[in-house]
Amino acid sequence: WSKQQGGNTYHFYQAEMNAQAVERLKLENELRRAVKRKEFVLHYQPQFDLNSDAIVGVEALLRWQHPELGLVPPLKFIGLLEETGMIVAVGEWILETACVQLRQWRDAGRELVPLAINFAERQFESAELVSLISRVLQENEIDPALLVVEVTESVLMDNNDAVTDVLVGLKDMGLGFAIDDFGTGYSSLGFLKNFPVNCLKIDQAFIRDIAADAGDAAIVSTIIQMADTLGMRSVAEGVEGPQQLEFLRTHGCHFGQGTYLSPPGDAAMIAALLAPVATVAPSAHEPRANVS
Ligand code: C2E
Ligand code: MG
Ligand code: MG
Ligand code: MG
Repeated sequence: WSKQQGGNTYHFYQAEMNAQAVERLKLENELRRAVKRKEFVLHYQPQFDLNSDAIVGVEALLRWQHPELGLVPPLKFIGLLEETGMIVAVGEWILETACVQLRQWRDAGRELVPLAINFAERQFESAELVSLISRVLQENEIDPALLVVEVTESVLMDNNDAVTDVLVGLKDMGLGFAIDDFGTGYSSLGFLKNFPVNCLKIDQAFIRDIAADAGDAAIVSTIIQMADTLGMRSVAEGVEGPQQLEFLRTHGCHFGQGTYLSPPGDAAMIAALLAPVATVAPSAHEPRANVS
């Protein structure tokens, strides 16, 4: 009897696994088609200085414009893009699209702020990333300091020499670095000394209950202090309400990002949020011919 039950359980799991494999294959095929047809779009989420309320950056966030499903969020497909290596081609498109967008905001008379782009580990495995980024920045006349590479702790902790060379190459080029989802990865902090970054982005899991949970509050205030001590900026992710904002302000967190401050939006929404460049009246510079 028990043997038979075991057999059924086995068959159940096998059916379940087959269904999952089929789903995965289906998604993979759809993604390959999406890459060919360029079905992706970038949204952007502003980051705010919590003292002045000024926009101090925008993060590019990938979406899939699926013909039937509509706008698909990245957590549904980014893992598969990484596993299959498709993230390298899509990553080039992301980089190019975001930099062209930055130039278009500037051409539309908007004040430029640093642009953060998320990178997957796979993208650093090719040395060509350095020349690619350098070319895209030059083509769009963008100061390298305006591009911020967002990576997770595990990428910076990696002992892969090829990856390290690319990271150092990008740093030498003058790009900014931010550690994404900070606090959720490995606990060894020595890597911050070897590879100093500009920003620590505190994972939203610690921000969620910050006002009620003493443990989260302690973790967040410690990260904020550590960033200060190391000369880095602290950025809170997932700021969803006034109590979180209040806590972060009180504890000296520099920057914040979240739906309460501004949800991600398309390029037009961001253009409307960016300050117009202060135009100097021409008369201040040019000789006034007809002033007597
Ligand atoms: P992430 O880089 O940590 O991005 C922050 C995520 O939090 C975004 O999710 C954003 O929409 C979401 N978010 C913003 N405000 C709030 C809030 O107040 N509350 C909550 N709960 N969430 C908020 P999204 O756009 O779904 O992206 C999820 C993840 O997918 C990103 O996490 C990043 O790891 C990855 N990803 C997104 N775009 C790219 C990309 O272009 N390349 C790569 N490699 N990964 C990307
Ligand atoms: Mg990010
Ligand atoms: Mg994050
Ligand atoms: Mg993330």
